Amino acid sequence: MALAESDIAALYNPENGLRHNCGVAAFYFNTPRPLSNLVPVLAALNHRGEEGVGVVGLLPDGTMSAFRDEGIVRDNASRILDANADVTIALGHDRYSTSGGACAWQPFCEEGDRVATAHNGNITNPLGLLHELPEDERAIFVSDTHVLHKALNAKPEQTIEQRLQAVLPQLEGAFSLTIADRETGALYLVRDPSGFRPLHYAPLKDGNGFVAASETVAFTQFVDDTASIVEVPRGSCVRIDANGITEVPIGFPKTDAAHCIFELVYLGSPASEIFGAKVHRFRKECGNALAQEDIALGFVPDVIVPVRDSGATAANGYSESMMRYLIEHGHDPSEVTQRMPQEGLLRNNYVRRTFILPDGRGDAVAEKFTVVPDVVRGKKVVLVDDSVVRGNTMTKLIRMMREAGALEVHVRSASPQVKHGCYYGVDFTGEKEELIATNRTEADIATIIDADSIGYIRLNDMVAIASRLTGRKNGFCTACFDGKYPVPINQELLLGKSC
Ligand code: SF4
Repeated sequence: MALAESDIAALYNPENGLRHNCGVAAFYFNTPRPLSNLVPVLAALNHRGEEGVGVVGLLPDGTMSAFRDEGIVRDNASRILDANADVTIALGHDRYSTSGGACAWQPFCEEGDRVATAHNGNITNPLGLLHELPEDERAIFVSDTHVLHKALNAKPEQTIEQRLQAVLPQLEGAFSLTIADRETGALYLVRDPSGFRPLHYAPLKDGNGFVAASETVAFTQFVDDTASIVEVPRGSCVRIDANGITEVPIGFPKTDAAHCIFELVYLGSPASEIFGAKVHRFRKECGNALAQEDIALGFVPDVIVPVRDSGATAANGYSESMMRYLIEHGHDPSEVTQRMPQEGLLRNNYVRRTFILPDGRGDAVAEKFTVVPDVVRGKKVVLVDDSVVRGNTMTKLIRMMREAGALEVHVRSASPQVKHGCYYGVDFTGEKEELIATNRTEADIATIIDADSIGYIRLNDMVAIASRLTGRKNGFCTACFDGKYPVPINQELLLGKSC
């Protein structure tokens, strides 16, 4: 079950940069329940990471049961059941990285460890923690989380809470953590002071403990009343044990909120509530704003096609505003209804999300999408997506649309131009040449992807929508759009570019 040191050394390749965004989930049971309770929760979070899945359970006798491997939850469910046992704490993790191969699956729990650790985000100074590790362990680690995990397990003469208080204030960057402590039998939920990534918990509907997860969509089967779901406050550590919920003082530095706005744009499920906003509503309003831009320019498409699934909600919003405008300006209702989003692109659900694939992302596009010629032939098409990051997928989709007979193909992005790398746990590396919008005008980008035009929501408009829906005015990280990094990056302490 545990990673052998030799495996770890073989897997660690600092040239790769082990990059990920992930989903975390956990249970605390007052009386032991099967570890497999994690399966539906991790399945509901699988959009956050499809490369690997892991579960670790704390048994009443203090031993740990674990399963970790590549692949999605559905493909591993029977093997997770093989590791099944009645546990008091269950930790689960959906992992996403862009470097292929078996590495750094979470939750971490090695032979003899006191705690198991799972992480969503990216710690930007993991090498600054090495002094917390025994000297002979300072050269062997597979990821930022692994360094943290080792630091929490170091110095066994200290209690876990002393370790948390010693280690956590030193961390920089993005970290939503779930930690199971073998000695005290407690579950800890931690969120960084900026609150980059979401993390929530709620009492189980049968009263037998608590469930925790990155996103509220994962609580469906276990929580009766969504009003009981609590967001772990940024810059805090919550302990869950037989006494219920207690906040553990950590001494995090005080800082402004910097919630990742990309959680609302793309990462989160439309069925989730993130940072207090309904993700579906946010995306729809961004689509509304996009349409207002086109209406102001006098641009009306023949047909609106969402890039499923990520652009579907924004396309609804775009369509809604466009139809309202046409009705208000006396257009024939039969003509107006043609501006409802059309199924012009069918998605093959048996192919993994292109953005998530570790290798060959562009090659999967033709497998993943099919154009419906009748919808686009001879038409001025607007393709609506949540974002245009590298442009590879969009270029292929436009070519497919043209081959199917589209007269014009116009792209509309429900987020602004992504121009800068992310160091806080999302796979836009600092290699700016990967990002199609860096140092390019909209006209340049349209030429490269062979679109008749491309349009983006304005950053101010998007932030205004997020501020209004969350009630958190300007408390967002927008660094990938404007280059303003809320937590400074010390390149010498980074592990890879985004681990
Ligand atoms: Fe999110 Fe972009 Fe900030 Fe990264 S840089 S945390 S993707 S908003």
